[in-house]
Amino acid sequence: MTDAVRQSTGTAVTALECIRCGAQHPVGDYSLGCPSCAAAGHGSNLFCRYPAEAVRQDQLLPYPVVPDLGQGRTPLFPLPWLDGVLVKNEAANPTGSHKDRFAAMAVTHAKASGYERVVVGSSGNAGLATAAFAAAVGLRAVVAGFTWLPESLAAPRSAVAPCWPPTTSSGDATSSRPATGPS
Ligand SMILES: [Zn+2]
Repeated sequence: MTDAVRQSTGTAVTALECIRCGAQHPVGDYSLGCPSCAAAGHGSNLFCRYPAEAVRQDQLLPYPVVPDLGQGRTPLFPLPWLDGVLVKNEAANPTGSHKDRFAAMAVTHAKASGYERVVVGSSGNAGLATAAFAAAVGLRAVVAGFTWLPESLAAPRSAVAPCWPPTTSSGDATSSRPATGPS
């Protein structure tokens, strides 16, 4: 995100701070994490800094305006057996999972940064969410997955984005299975 894009989005993010060394960086794209730590051979993530005064909730996001396919605003249900506990039904999101939330943010970032496509590794719903939101902003999506995915996951995902490697129902389902399954 460039400063110009940041200002046009209305976000309240003022800087990105390293969780490792504490350095603050101007709002921008840091695909390798903290530049200071990366230069020293360490990977480190950044978190958002906000002004001290209160800001609106939507200003806490780096991109307050994202494609709206109906994500979020999912219903809360009380648990009858746990007094005072509410469960949020994230299956009510448009592609059926909570991953719609960050997919909307990721493709908005990609679009604002001038990318033409997004690539995601997924065994299921993250790929579906990314493909749906990429299509909503006019980006191409490529989903990298496993050839052994069940059709119930591979078919809907293939309908919205090309998959790599291509999923087939006739191939050797175990030939590319990793030692451990997807998380
Ligand atoms: Zn750092």
